[in-house]
Parts: sequence; C-alpha cells; structure tokens
Amino acid sequence: MGARGVILLGPPGAGKGTQAERISKDYGLVHISTGDMLRDAVARGTSLGRQAKRFMDAGELAPDEVVAGIVAERLAESAPGQGFLLDGFPRSLSQAEALDEALADSGRSVDLALSIQVPEEELVRRLTGRRLCADCARPYHVEFGPPQVADRCDQCGGRLYQRSDDTEETVRNRLAVYRDQTEPLNGYYRSRGVLAGIDGTGRPDEVYARIRRSLDRVQGSEPGQPA
Ligand code: AMP
Repeated sequence: MGARGVILLGPPGAGKGTQAERISKDYGLVHISTGDMLRDAVARGTSLGRQAKRFMDAGELAPDEVVAGIVAERLAESAPGQGFLLDGFPRSLSQAEALDEALADSGRSVDLALSIQVPEEELVRRLTGRRLCADCARPYHVEFGPPQVADRCDQCGGRLYQRSDDTEETVRNRLAVYRDQTEPLNGYYRSRGVLAGIDGTGRPDEVYARIRRSLDRVQGSEPGQPA
C-alpha cells in the first residue's frame, strides 16, 4: 500500500500548502491543514476561533488542547483505511506524541515525514509577498507568481488578500517559533526512519518532482513515476 500517512514539516513559507494540494489530489490523501481550519474558525467566529486568534496574530502556536482536538476529530471522521496528509501539524513534540496516540487508536501511523527546507531570507521574501484567494485559498506572490488580473484569482475570480500574520514582524516571530518548537521534530521522525529532507528552493513543480520521488519510493510499485 505504501505511504498512507504523510506529514509535511518545514518552516512557514516553505510551500507546504501549495505542495499539499497537489499531493493530496494525485495520491488520494485527505488534506488536513490546521492553519486553514483555524483561519476558518476565526472567520466564522466560533469559540475555537476566538481562542486561537490572538496566538495566530502574534505568530505564536495556538494551545495544544485547541489544535490537537480538531485534528483528532478530522482523523476520526475519515475511514481507517483512508490515507491522510497533515499540513502544519504536528508543530511541537507534544503534538507529535498526541498524533501518535490518535493514530494508534485506528491502527494508523506516520509512514513518511517530508521536511521541506528553504533558507530563511527566502522564506521572509516569500511570506511577505504572499497573497491568497479569499474564496478558494489559492496562493499567489506579488513578485514570483502574480495573478493575471490585479487582486483577482485566476482560478475562480475571488478577491486576493494578505494574511494578517504575513507582515515582516510576525513572520520573523513565526520563524523563531518554528526553530524552537517545530524543528526538533526532524530528529523525532528521523529516529523512526520516516524522515525525507526535501530541497524546497526553485519552482513549485521542481519541488513537487522531488516530493514525488520520495513518495514513490515509499509507494513502491504504485503509479506516479518521478517527473
Ligand atoms: P499556518 O497556516 O500553518 O502557517 O498556520 C497559521 C497559524 O495558525 C500559526 O502561526 C499558528 O498560530 C496556528 N497554527 C496552525 N497550526 C498549528 C499547530 N499545529 N499548532 C499550533 N498552532 C497552529
């Protein structure tokens, strides 16, 4: 069966969201993005959203109780045999342990942890220039990937906006939080033999080709040869 439980590690701005969309579609995995779920909860003004908002605005991690619960819920909703792709979770050792417990309950595990690496100054450039479609969440960049019509999504015509945590000050804090709390997860998954480092520089399709090579190694004879 190959990789059915995949997580995406890597700093903010490494391209996790962009890659997650393509991977989940091509490999039939359920895409679970904690950042997207939290932004949705904030937009809807739910109690979860109200609890998470101030942490998100500051570029800090939302409390584990808030985040681990929504992930466990989403995993429980999917069939035990359904593969999953986690994007933005886990982000700390305690979340990684909570994930292991939640997965063990349904006989699942993390088969592959893709750790996307990009130099820090490049991350700052990517994040501060990032724009997203308000309707379909497709990402753009003011310099590297602008839309055809200013401020409008090429795909659905939705309005583009800048995430409130993509300002330079908050971005620097998010990167510091990543180094302190999330980067140690590379060691956690390396010691289990499931870590694959991915060079995240270059065009999105170049990065995707590297990701496919890693996924297909675990997939064994599944279709989808490296580009
Ligand atoms: P992202 O879209 O993945 O960059 O997430 C945006 C923000 O949501 C982060 O800066 C955190 O405040 C919050 N967040 C997302 N995922 C997590 C998580 N696994 N644990 C704690 N906070 C999270």
